[in-house]
Amino acid sequence: MKFFCLSLLVFVVVPLSCSVQDTPATGDANTEVLRDTTIQIVVGGDMMSHKPQVTAAWNVSNQRYEYEHWFQFVKPTIETADLAIANLETTLSGEPYTGYPCFSAPDAFAFDLKRVGFDVLVTANNHVADKGKRGIERTIRVLDSFDIKHTGSYRTQQERDSLHPLIIDVKGVKVAILSYTYSTNGLPVSKPNVVDLIDDSIMAKDIARARAKGAELVIPIMHWGNEYQTVEHPIQSRTASFLASKGVDAIVGMHPHVLQPIRYIKTKTDSVPVVYSLGNFVANMRDRYQNGGAMIKITAKRTNGRTMVTAFEDIPFYVYKGSISANTTSKSVSLCHGFYCIPESAAHLLPGSAEAPQFFDDARRILRGSSKR
Ligand SMILES: [Zn+2]
Repeated sequence: MKFFCLSLLVFVVVPLSCSVQDTPATGDANTEVLRDTTIQIVVGGDMMSHKPQVTAAWNVSNQRYEYEHWFQFVKPTIETADLAIANLETTLSGEPYTGYPCFSAPDAFAFDLKRVGFDVLVTANNHVADKGKRGIERTIRVLDSFDIKHTGSYRTQQERDSLHPLIIDVKGVKVAILSYTYSTNGLPVSKPNVVDLIDDSIMAKDIARARAKGAELVIPIMHWGNEYQTVEHPIQSRTASFLASKGVDAIVGMHPHVLQPIRYIKTKTDSVPVVYSLGNFVANMRDRYQNGGAMIKITAKRTNGRTMVTAFEDIPFYVYKGSISANTTSKSVSLCHGFYCIPESAAHLLPGSAEAPQFFDDARRILRGSSKR
């Protein structure tokens, strides 16, 4: 069944003059000609793994953990993007699987995120050190074994030096993905492991390095802000302004477990879009504002050798916990107990409840920046 996720809010980015990139438009004998193209990047928020999710993912009949079906209603958006990114907010430390406050999810969680269409999982978040050195290193090993690109944590400084920044070729466009967290919940990151923390001087160096390596787009994924606050904190605004001043193309925030606004930061040469928080992608959090999230779809165009973000579009979805049994005009839908990400276009499948409509109303209001909370 195909669902076409209609955006609730579409923001078109109109640069004030030109983009910060200065890629050559035409080549000579030594310069490659960069053809005009358009790419779409989708970013999702926090992939949590609370214990009830682990329990719900267990398929008794085949004795496996299975997650892919939870994402079937958002999968078309994810798999059709040229690049899809999310935040893995759990370690993959093996058994015993644990939920809050120190997470370890089954490896199948990451594997199924790849099957859904995610290409990159960022790991700089406040739970990356939940299981110490073993957790940091095993998570990297598992992601590598599944051929999932990742950035934000490293086994050694040498590994960071050789792999960072993560630059991905997206239809010929070089896109740098950076990942930073405000903290690791007070848990130590033991040497020689490295986690990318929010630090002005390091971020400035990383951005410059990404450009020096040819990145046409630089997108930092920021783990920041106060939990459960539907407006950004001044520290987030300050950091976003700093990143914009260093020439990033778009900023995507996570961590508060609720949505926060989309805003635009004016620089001398550009208007940089920032979404301060995408909320939960999937989590066992049922309170108002916490029971859903949004994806952000970034459209970037390269014209005459210059690449710039031209649209920044949000796609909210509600996380439904339960089973679904519904008859639609085309087919009947019957789904076992789980945590289903439901965009508004599929909300008619949900059993009658005021929660989903309220979530979508809240999402529109918060993302537009009109939240009073
Ligand atoms: Zn977090």
